[in-house]
Amino acid sequence: MASFLDTAASATGQILSTVTRGLLDLVYPPRCLGCSARPESPDLPLCPRCLQSMERAPTMGVAARLDRLPTGQGLFDHALALWVFDKGGTLQSVQHAFKYGNRPRYGAALGRLMGSAYAEEAELPEGVVPIPLHRTRKLERGYNQAQMLAQGVADTLDRPLRDDLLSRPTPTRSQTDLSREERWRNVRDAFAATDEQCAGGHWLLVDDVLTTGSTAVAAGLTLIGAGADAVSLATLALARQ
Ligand SMILES: [Zn+2]
Repeated sequence: MASFLDTAASATGQILSTVTRGLLDLVYPPRCLGCSARPESPDLPLCPRCLQSMERAPTMGVAARLDRLPTGQGLFDHALALWVFDKGGTLQSVQHAFKYGNRPRYGAALGRLMGSAYAEEAELPEGVVPIPLHRTRKLERGYNQAQMLAQGVADTLDRPLRDDLLSRPTPTRSQTDLSREERWRNVRDAFAATDEQCAGGHWLLVDDVLTTGSTAVAAGLTLIGAGADAVSLATLALARQ
């Protein structure tokens, strides 16, 4: 019953968001969120010039962030964050539009950029795994932003999207106002994975923002615990600290 209701709610949400999207485009034609110019494609939140000027997150910076979590050291075969995230910066507007502003289609386009960057640096995974949201959070928001990104990554890498491998049965409170230690305690037991599906594979986890890395590390450890051979990570953003 619950799953029927979820499906019905999700289908209704999708129809509503398609209608809303059409209306939004009529009232507010897509504009670059950095400079208000016309983007090259309505699926991209930024024009080519603003895309060019985004600050790439250094690989060492991503590794250093993960190393600060005792359980994160050496966990990921490869970890990539595409851009640096500053409070009040262009990427925050992008993330806001994408996460809360009913522009989920930005996700696949941004995911394709992440996929291209990943392909330049690392070995291709067997499948692409979005970091799941808890059911309640997904219903509130209507979609999982990590899944939209993961779809774009999977398309670019020509690898399957495996949103069946990882689930999030335990609800967690928002991480926003928590310290590093609190974030880790909040999320460490949040995920579950299906052993027979994960075993032996190299899985690429996808999420939107890497802050302390707690969520990504908890998800990665869950996949390894279920027998995964290797896990890698790609996020859209690395929060500046
Ligand atoms: Zn622009």
